[in-house]
Amino acid sequence: MDIKEFRKEAHSLVDWMADYLENVEKYPVKSQVKPGEILNSLPDSPPDYPEPFDKIFSDFEKTIMPGITHWQSPSFFAYFPANSSPPSLLGEMLTSTLGAQCMSWQTSPAAAELEERVMGWLRDMIGLPKEYTGVIQDTASIATLCSILTAREKITDYNINKTGLFKANKFAVYCSAETHSSIEKAVRITGLGSDNLRKISVDENYAMISDQLEKAIEDDIKNSITPLCVIATMGTTGSTAIDPLEKIGRICKNHKIWLHVDAAFAGSALVLPEMRWMSKGIEYADTFVFNPHKWLFTNFDCSAYFVKDEQALVRTFEILPEYLKTKEGDRVKNYRDWGIQLGRRFRVLKLWFVIRTYGVNGIREKIRKHLELGIWFKDCIEKSDSFELLAPVSLNVVCFRYHPPSINDETELNKINERLMDSINSTGNIYLTHTTLNGKFTLRMVIGQTFVDNHHVENAWQLIQDIVLLI
Ligand code: PLP
Repeated sequence: MDIKEFRKEAHSLVDWMADYLENVEKYPVKSQVKPGEILNSLPDSPPDYPEPFDKIFSDFEKTIMPGITHWQSPSFFAYFPANSSPPSLLGEMLTSTLGAQCMSWQTSPAAAELEERVMGWLRDMIGLPKEYTGVIQDTASIATLCSILTAREKITDYNINKTGLFKANKFAVYCSAETHSSIEKAVRITGLGSDNLRKISVDENYAMISDQLEKAIEDDIKNSITPLCVIATMGTTGSTAIDPLEKIGRICKNHKIWLHVDAAFAGSALVLPEMRWMSKGIEYADTFVFNPHKWLFTNFDCSAYFVKDEQALVRTFEILPEYLKTKEGDRVKNYRDWGIQLGRRFRVLKLWFVIRTYGVNGIREKIRKHLELGIWFKDCIEKSDSFELLAPVSLNVVCFRYHPPSINDETELNKINERLMDSINSTGNIYLTHTTLNGKFTLRMVIGQTFVDNHHVENAWQLIQDIVLLI
């Protein structure tokens, strides 16, 4: 493909992209294909000879599109959103076009310096104290892994990196029973072992019980196990429960334990001053992560990781072979040393575009709207005789189930609600997913898509009530 052809195809692709965004609601939100359907329609071997772009694109429309779940549909209420926005897409297009690999300052000074500046903006936007420095990671999972690795190195005077874990003390890591699975994965990868992850019980709101945390820490100390790190969650995946950060922070301070805060989804709501109750006690945190790629209109991937001790992070990860040495030394930030992988995409460009296009107030308006829609949906559930809430609604996630007065058998209720969810999703009109809370099959209504509006949530509620009559 030469540049002339690229220009022509790119123009028509941009038209296709705009049409897609305009018409995204015409597609079934959850892909309706069966396992293997796409695979079996693809040729076994690659083409030996060039194929025209027209043909490739027509196969994309015919074969690939049916297998896409439309995360950018305003009727996408599943998981947590991976929302996007037009300015983010434009930034991403430029990132791809430049194709810059931004591992060091020298490999694209603008990428490094824009990231430094925009992460400062973002820190201020969510009300984090000035002492935190930010860096973009690909995902919250990786940011948490970086945090635990840094905690591990700092406590051992950076020795495990050198000698391995063989001679190390036995360490314990603490999180709540509702914490995201990425924490356990990180504990496995860091070599600490999931047997040493203490999953602290939660209260009736699914938030960590801080007294139980303290007890677990004291028990470990009695047994000569070193408490290494606590992970507090601001907005659990199941029900957006908020762990009591201030109490947890004080415990960590008293016992000199590293504290990481996982706010992957809920962190975006901190742009609203009225939501900062969630981050009371944040000053105790050593590290904090939230994902603009979930709820800040910036397409995947873009995870904002903030650290108090920049030097500890860099000392954990830096390694400098001859071929990576550059002359600028300490005067610049080389983000290759701020995380696991060497190569880095120019991710901050899309975030910069988003923040500038909407402005802080525009972003606040959207998030506030989502919270209001969450309250509206919660009220509908509360007013209904046939549905019930299964968790407090602290943000824009409503955990609920169908529970008519005539049925009280829990096994039956679980089965009915699973059937209800499958029937709803098979309409293609909306998409929602589930979790289990207290053994109860729980439907999660997550209202955070960039363009979701009142009528999408009203239609969803109507559809749910209609389907209930059919199952
Ligand atoms: N932490 C929480 C609370 C989450 O809800 C999620 C994903 O939903 C993650 C971490 C993992 O996020 P990522 O996909 O960015 O690794």
